[in-house]
Amino acid sequence: MLRPHPLKLDVAVVGTGTVGSASALFLARQGHRVTLYEKVVEPGTAGAGIMLQPTGMAVLRQLGLEQQVVSQGDRIDRLWVQTAQTAGGRKIMELEYEQLQKGLFGVGLHRGVLFKALYDAARTEAGVTLRTGLDIEDLHTFKDGSQGAIERGTRTVHGKHDLVVVANGARSSLRDDTAFVKSVERYEWGALWAIVPDLENRFTGRLFQTVRGTRRLIGLLPTGHGPEGGPRQVSFFYSLRGDQLDAFPTWDFEKWKAEVLADVPESAPVLEQLGSHESLLFSHYHDVVMWPWNTERVVYLGDAAHAMSPQLGQGCNLALLDAWFFAQALKGATSVADALFRYSRERRWHLSWYQFITRALTPFFQSDLTWLGPLRDYGMSQVVKVPWVRKQMVAAMAGVSRGPFMDLLKLPD
Ligand SMILES: Cc1cc2nc3c(=O)[nH]c(=O)nc-3n(C[C@H](O)[C@H](O)[C@H](O)COP(=O)(O)OP(=O)(O)OC[C@H]3O[C@@H](n4cnc5c(N)ncnc54)[C@H](O)[C@@H]3O)c2cc1C
Repeated sequence: MLRPHPLKLDVAVVGTGTVGSASALFLARQGHRVTLYEKVVEPGTAGAGIMLQPTGMAVLRQLGLEQQVVSQGDRIDRLWVQTAQTAGGRKIMELEYEQLQKGLFGVGLHRGVLFKALYDAARTEAGVTLRTGLDIEDLHTFKDGSQGAIERGTRTVHGKHDLVVVANGARSSLRDDTAFVKSVERYEWGALWAIVPDLENRFTGRLFQTVRGTRRLIGLLPTGHGPEGGPRQVSFFYSLRGDQLDAFPTWDFEKWKAEVLADVPESAPVLEQLGSHESLLFSHYHDVVMWPWNTERVVYLGDAAHAMSPQLGQGCNLALLDAWFFAQALKGATSVADALFRYSRERRWHLSWYQFITRALTPFFQSDLTWLGPLRDYGMSQVVKVPWVRKQMVAAMAGVSRGPFMDLLKLPD
């Protein structure tokens, strides 16, 4: 259990996504007074299937939410990648969590399940005041250095906080005043996705990915039960370049489904449940680079600090780790600035490594650099046979890699 903290702070957390709610919980349990600002009046539970990694589970355990979340998901033991049937249907690689450590696994999860568990816990936590329907555009610095949250439109200043946790995602405007932002870019490629019931329990145990060149990536992820229960579900992902999105509704839907089926016959039970273009939603990915992730009174966590492509399935897990590491940095700190800079130093290596490998890997799976396709199909199928390399790849998948010659990330226990 976390001990009460000697510094009793008035903290603003902007955003009730993964990292916002998790941070609010950790900080309130340390004895700080937390105001949680959220743009959406009634935040909902929509979203794609996500992979919860051992890292994310370890943080949820600290919050007492692991069992609740994991029990609603589907255990994932391996990642399986193969070429499309129309391109030979050859296995490229199979990575098993147990190749790193016995008993290790991931969980396929409806994003709403994670959201709901964290949000419900945060809004009912003593010490957390939830203020929804407030779109925070900017921060105001009072003469004594404390911070107010400025509402978009009315420019009303809310609160007078010792510390602000910026947790409002990749498109945050609260980074604009910092000199530390190196770049905020949107990837050219994103994904169409759908979540449908897995009526015959066909999809279990693995994240199944099929590739054809670098322009076609189709994923099937067992996703467990929805946030309101119901039947087990499976998530379907289809890689699409952002500039094709407007044209997608004009594509012949049945022809498109036939093409997907030819590439991935396993997707038949999903395709049967997709009635029209509207059955699919689209997500863009962002890439945010900044450092340090703090000023004297403000800290940037989760996607607001380091959004990346979901190629390695780490975003929520890194966000959860951010919340935990930040709470650790604050524990026992003698000043806010000291804790914030300590946090940025502590997180630098792990986060920079994931940003680097995500950025390096993404074009092999989603890009117009078609020559990378054969290189990936042959190269990955060969290097994965080397035990040391395979172990590195599994560590990266599990979220605990800090680079090939570094110790693995130590998880909260
Ligand atoms: C297709 C896709 C698949 C993915 N798959 C995975 C996966 O398998 N595993 C994984 O770990 N991650 C995955 N991710 C990434 C993951 O969803 C994000 O990394 C994660 O949600 C980031 O959490 P966050 O709390 O930083 O931000 P968010 O979840 O974006 O939350 C931000 C919150 O801030 C609120 N907000 C925004 N602006 C304001 C404002 N101005 N004022 C007040 N509140 C505001 C929002 O309403 C929201 O509640 C995937 C992402 C995509 C797009």
